[in-house]
Amino acid sequence: MPELPEVETVRRTLTPAIGARITTVWDSAKGLHMQRKPPRAKLKTLAGATITGVRRHGKYLLVDTDGPSLLVHLGMTGRFCIHRAGEPRHNHTHLVLGLADGRELRFTDARRFGQLDIVEREREREHAGLALLGPDALVDGVDPDALLAVAKRRKSPLKIFVLDQSVIAGVGNIYASEALWRAQLRPTTRAHKLTLPAAKRLAAAITETLTNALENGGTTLSDFVAADGTKGDNVDYLWVYERDGEPCLRCKTRIKRSVLGGRATYYCPRCQTA
Ligand SMILES: [Zn+2]
Repeated sequence: MPELPEVETVRRTLTPAIGARITTVWDSAKGLHMQRKPPRAKLKTLAGATITGVRRHGKYLLVDTDGPSLLVHLGMTGRFCIHRAGEPRHNHTHLVLGLADGRELRFTDARRFGQLDIVEREREREHAGLALLGPDALVDGVDPDALLAVAKRRKSPLKIFVLDQSVIAGVGNIYASEALWRAQLRPTTRAHKLTLPAAKRLAAAITETLTNALENGGTTLSDFVAADGTKGDNVDYLWVYERDGEPCLRCKTRIKRSVLGGRATYYCPRCQTA
């Protein structure tokens, strides 16, 4: 599932589309996120608009134009790529923006957990998804004092706390396990038990984990690709994720897998004690 480093990789690889004019808009008319259909009539208003920028907040992408902005969430299996117009379309293509220069921006999503929407830039914070988001983990950074202040009011396990997009936008299931390993914190520790030194370790660990993953082009477990079709290499650099039964890279103890909030969680039972 694409998290901040993957979505940021897509954002960066989409920048060659800036300056291009959208001439045609095609959509599959199929429902995406929670069976909701993308707003067809609003999507059509992109025709004639010129792409002026590509932004990201948490796991949301925003393609700005001189008209409205296109909001994209990749969900689990979403891809948003630049193609030549003549290339065959993937079976699960849901949106095609034809560009005046002969390229196309295509959104494909096999499992259809992704989202497409149109927002007005001045009112984008009213969008249900964007309205909930806390500070972006990389753009805004993770402030240990702010993190600690919120943690003190929460009784949820740390892993679930870190996944809460209203606390930190951009961290998902893979990097939550990775960051907690780096910070030597147990995923099941209650958030309100966090100390200031632990909050500082956690904030630094989140930043390092996401920065390194971004430098490696993101983590491709199955579907994720950049907008130019490249897969990410970060899967080769994961400390604990899907490494259950293998030795901890810090203390050699076998990595354990558990389920927290319905999501697979990986940790070292020996050196993640706090
Ligand atoms: Zn260990």
